[in-house]
Amino acid sequence: MTSGRTITCDALVVGGGIAGLQAALDLADQGFSVVIIESDLSIGGKMIRLSKVFPTLDCSSCITTPKMASAAHHDNITIFTWCELQSLERDNTTVTARVTARPRYVDEEKCIGCRKCEYACPVLVPDPEQGGFSGTKAIRIPFSNAIPQVAALDPEHCMLCGRCARACPTGAVDYLQQPRQFTVTARTAVLATGFEMTSPGDRPQYGNGTIANVITALQMERILAPHGPYNRVLRPMDGMEPDSIAFVQCAGSRDLSMGVPYCSRFCCMYAIKQAMLLSGALPLADIVIYYMDIRAFGKGYEQFYQTAKAMGIQFVKGKVARLQGLEGGTVAVHYEAQEGEGVSVDNHDLVVLSMGVVPHWSPEGICRVSTGADRFIRTVRPSLSPVRTDLEGVFVAGAASGPKDIVDTIAEAGAAAMAASNYLAAVRQQG
Ligand SMILES: Cc1cc2nc3c(=O)[nH]c(=O)nc-3n(C[C@H](O)[C@H](O)[C@H](O)COP(=O)(O)OP(=O)(O)OC[C@H]3O[C@@H](n4cnc5c(N)ncnc54)[C@H](O)[C@@H]3O)c2cc1C
Repeated sequence: MTSGRTITCDALVVGGGIAGLQAALDLADQGFSVVIIESDLSIGGKMIRLSKVFPTLDCSSCITTPKMASAAHHDNITIFTWCELQSLERDNTTVTARVTARPRYVDEEKCIGCRKCEYACPVLVPDPEQGGFSGTKAIRIPFSNAIPQVAALDPEHCMLCGRCARACPTGAVDYLQQPRQFTVTARTAVLATGFEMTSPGDRPQYGNGTIANVITALQMERILAPHGPYNRVLRPMDGMEPDSIAFVQCAGSRDLSMGVPYCSRFCCMYAIKQAMLLSGALPLADIVIYYMDIRAFGKGYEQFYQTAKAMGIQFVKGKVARLQGLEGGTVAVHYEAQEGEGVSVDNHDLVVLSMGVVPHWSPEGICRVSTGADRFIRTVRPSLSPVRTDLEGVFVAGAASGPKDIVDTIAEAGAAAMAASNYLAAVRQQG
């Protein structure tokens, strides 16, 4: 591993999802220099991977891409992707982050994003950016509007055939690239490390992820996205247009056995959104949402729910006990409805699971910020200062402190930027 330079800035933002981008832009617009550290190959977080957003049904990538581009082109913002935070320490007035840049096996300075390496690569692999439903290459730009537009080679699948290196017009492919270490020193930091979904593989009653036409909500986002894997709604097993689609709510939340006893907050709304989009794409399909409670807490959300009901989407209040794959790809949903008698079974062509929301990152062993019982970053006074962590000068924004929709995430990112900016002004005055 090569170790290297130290970069100095006013504010360090960890995480380049919508929370991190908004906080960085707000700070940079005030004249502060900002460094964003992102662990993925591109900035944009979950939002750049969504189809449309509730409750407005705006195209998600149409509203996220301009923010990503503004951050990437801002004079006061420097972005490092594909990086791992090794430690984040604070002493007196300085935050010091040690970071490892993982190898892309492509020189970032030389890559011009022409994709010639990708076209030349003979290795086809399932595309993680499309829920695994379509193929991509072992060397690729992760997705069309990724920022930066720099290719990365997946060493697990590369055959070292050399075709990408020969096709690259700038000699950017570097099979021997090593991890690089660098240090960022800042006066303040915003943690915007977001969330992950629990895995269907942990749910034996839902088939442990092995039933072909049982997919996750994030996979459904990709199926519904304008540049998704199929360009229309098809079920993954056989490419059939589904006539009957079910959503299973609280498939990984509000469940002590999963370690997720809390409500994941945005799942009711995204299931309603996906159901509405499906009913537009497949007007004759039956769409059922199996739910425990509908939590339509935000502005305009209740009306959104009522509109879905008026569109003919069925809502069945009850707990789904079991899913069973049947011959021909049909999925049997065994459930107990509140208003029914005992367990009923209904068959569907496609089932979407709303899995639980858990933190993407844990500060354990990296930084002295504490977490709550739910493992999300703890805020010291949640009602009065929801962006302050217990480490002075270190703030938190977005889903890093708990499941949050985009509206609350953006508002919180603005609050975190404001708190960081006030903190910077105060330290500046002190000397
Ligand atoms: C299926 C689905 C549909 C949704 N639909 C909607 C919708 O329609 N409307 C709505 O309002 N909300 C919706 N949401 C919620 C929305 O995705 C979140 O509100 C939003 O993504 C939160 O943004 P964030 O930046 O806090 O977190 P994220 O989007 O998770 O971004 C966090 C970023 O931090 C990076 N990161 C994590 N750890 C580290 C680390 N240690 N170092 C560096 N970088 C790190 C991650 O790679 C990621 O890029 C949906 C969620 C899901 C799952």
